[in-house]
Amino acid sequence: MSPGNLPKSDVSLSHPDRLYWPDEGVTKQALADYYAAVWRFMAPYVVNRPLALLRLPDGIKGHQRFFQKHAWKGMNPHIEEVADPQDADGEKLLDIVDFNGVAALVQSAVLEIHPWGTTIDHWERPDMITMDLDPGEDVAWSAVIAAALDVKARLEARGIAAFVKTSGGKGLHVVSPLAPKAGWAEVKDFAHSLAESMSADMPDKYLSTATKAKRGGHIYIDYLRNGRGNTAVAAYSTRARPGAPVSMPLDWQELNEVTGPAAFTLANVPQRLRTRPKDPWSDFFDAAAPLE
Ligand code: ATP
Ligand code: MN
Repeated sequence: MSPGNLPKSDVSLSHPDRLYWPDEGVTKQALADYYAAVWRFMAPYVVNRPLALLRLPDGIKGHQRFFQKHAWKGMNPHIEEVADPQDADGEKLLDIVDFNGVAALVQSAVLEIHPWGTTIDHWERPDMITMDLDPGEDVAWSAVIAAALDVKARLEARGIAAFVKTSGGKGLHVVSPLAPKAGWAEVKDFAHSLAESMSADMPDKYLSTATKAKRGGHIYIDYLRNGRGNTAVAAYSTRARPGAPVSMPLDWQELNEVTGPAAFTLANVPQRLRTRPKDPWSDFFDAAAPLE
């Protein structure tokens, strides 16, 4: 991508050399530059969606860490407020509408962006399913990849497309586009039954309940990202963790070459974008089908 195509914002960054990931030398300006580089791919997963924001004003080594669903004092006006239609008198939620919005998030030290699985145009009808694969201690990375392929096969058998991304933390997220028709309860039930079918078929490998889980050796298939008001980290969002990892959309074909859940970081994404300029999720919304 030529730098001339990068979006520009009206948000001026105060202290652009402030370190957000001090050990990695990643500054506020570097974070803004990263989002400019991925914005054309990332925008559909964060624009017009209610957001939960992980804000670390002093960077990942600082003591302040706020998981923020509502406005804060002095919030940049490019971060907008929107009323939840089911809680019209309650505190408003947050959303962004354009690149200025993500620049405002950077200025506000938002280091993780966690959207709902729907947009504010159709609050009650989710447009994606997120299956979160959380490996317990001593689960091999190859087993996490195998689990993602199993989730994909089960989704496709139901006529639902499946895409994969690293979580930037410990695991993988399998994400499916939905035509926004079914409601939250139906979508969550579907995700639940998918997780349960996996744990029933392979109880030595998979768990579908979080409670007192004997996680050791198992992969927890977390379907609970799919309820109304639940969130999952956005595709292309950074994580507030050592190494400055990002949740990176992948091609299924490259999954075996990916070395781990935090393989993609602010340090190597520019190189990835140069060598693989095509977004592996470019067909995501075109592949949406209704849940039958
Ligand atoms: P990992 O690979 O480490 O499991 P993940 O993105 O799958 O990464 P978490 O970062 O542990 O999982 O997030 C778990 C869930 O809790 C997500 O739905 C996320 O939106 C939400 N969440 C994250 N941080 C907070 C927080 N500080 N308070 C409340 N909820 C949070
Ligand atoms: Mn997870």
